[in-house]
Amino acid sequence: MKIIIVGASFAGMSAALECHQLYPDADILLIDKEEEVGYFPNVLNWQLKGEMKTAAEAQSGLVNQIKQTTIDFRLGAELVQLDAEDQSIIIRQAKTRTTEVYDALILAMGARQVWDFPDKGLGERILSSKYFSDAQESWRKIEKAQSVIIIGGGQIGLESVEALSQLPLSVTLFEAETSPLAKYVDEELMLDIEAELRRRHVKLHVGETVETICLTEDGSKVRVETLKGQYEADYLLLATNFQPNTDLVSDVLDCNPDQTIQVDEYLQTSQPHIFAIGDLIQLPFAFFGQAYLPLINHAILTGRLVAYNLVSPKRPLKEVQRIVSSHLFGYNMTSVGLTERQAQLWTDVDSVLIKAPYSQWETEELTFKLIVQRSDGRLLGGQLLSTSRHIQQMNTLALAISNGMTAQDMVEQSWLCLPRYTNLVPIVIEACQRYLHQKEEVSHAD
Ligand SMILES: Cc1cc2nc3c(=O)[nH]c(=O)nc-3n(C[C@H](O)[C@H](O)[C@H](O)COP(=O)(O)OP(=O)(O)OC[C@H]3O[C@@H](n4cnc5c(N)ncnc54)[C@H](O)[C@@H]3O)c2cc1C
Repeated sequence: MKIIIVGASFAGMSAALECHQLYPDADILLIDKEEEVGYFPNVLNWQLKGEMKTAAEAQSGLVNQIKQTTIDFRLGAELVQLDAEDQSIIIRQAKTRTTEVYDALILAMGARQVWDFPDKGLGERILSSKYFSDAQESWRKIEKAQSVIIIGGGQIGLESVEALSQLPLSVTLFEAETSPLAKYVDEELMLDIEAELRRRHVKLHVGETVETICLTEDGSKVRVETLKGQYEADYLLLATNFQPNTDLVSDVLDCNPDQTIQVDEYLQTSQPHIFAIGDLIQLPFAFFGQAYLPLINHAILTGRLVAYNLVSPKRPLKEVQRIVSSHLFGYNMTSVGLTERQAQLWTDVDSVLIKAPYSQWETEELTFKLIVQRSDGRLLGGQLLSTSRHIQQMNTLALAISNGMTAQDMVEQSWLCLPRYTNLVPIVIEACQRYLHQKEEVSHAD
């Protein structure tokens, strides 16, 4: 069997390694248009913060694992044409074009950050860190810069603000929502981070949407226009608008309006023997049906899963739980499932907020919010901001949410645990207990 995988990043490399395990006799070809692959997209921020000594620290271990196999790993090799009828692709490497025939083709070309710039000269004024080469170019630009505008106050935008605000630079952040990280964190949990932004003199424009981006008349700066004003800076960093790299295949494969490739639960596209994974596809997501969730863990999950389905459909993709984690301004932020605002779109909800200093967490700052469905106490989401790491607890919460557990189930589950294990999920259990007490008080009052 000949398996071709296009895109050697988190999704593509995970797929290649899994295929290598499952089909030891298969001929596996893994290609990527870039010469250097597998770098975490945060490489620029880590460099700016001085957290990296060598670039190798920012490269995923998957690259070395691939190199230790017999997988035909070709870099600087770009997919330029797909012929689904002949089951063949054309690859351009240097100036040479070659045709390769496949039994199974896995597309893992990922996504890019886009903005429809009318002014072609703008490219010079943009900072990007998606690929390693972009990050190195951006690093050189920042060394000479005095001001940067960042559009998008999500995870990527805030991580960039944190890194850039440590430098002697004027940093301006635009976010269309009324608070940063609104997709993952409700407003009241962002207060400490917003205070930190003010302390660092970051010019924060929330609830302000960027309408146009252009060059200033002399071309020396970039200008951003919103309904409230015009702002200029040396460089612009886009932390918004992910768009799947599907231009090349959208004539051949059925795509969704957001340009993701349509796949069935076994990750097969509208064409036989062609599969799509990672940032190219939407995922089944609680309440939303399908959602575009471009994250590394989803790329790895779909990459590993697809390998099982190449010959016959075996392992369906189940509903995923979004779990997002970031280290920002000294806080660990983890968000699981739905925020209160998102949940309110679907159902009536209650929430519980725990704020440190509190009982055993007196030594650390901690804010935890639990979101629960009002009708039956079903857990819908949780957000944790703390100065120490509690990711394990949030994984437990993610599992509980996936299994449709209620606050009552969680508390009863904790009774079953051996005493020495009871502190495994103290914050989540504590919040569930408080929620049940609140409910009891309300029902007594009625
Ligand atoms: C600045 C930034 C910060 C981020 N931070 C986080 C984070 O903290 N946590 C998190 O979970 N996610 C983060 N993400 C998202 C994360 O990077 C993606 O979800 C993840 O990389 C998706 O993996 P992928 O393998 O699907 O695609 P990609 O990583 O996009 O890789 C696709 C690969 O395909 C190659 N390719 C594309 N077209 C072709 C072609 N025609 N021929 C050959 N090769 C091709 C590309 O060169 C690339 O190597 C961040 C993204 C950005 C931009």
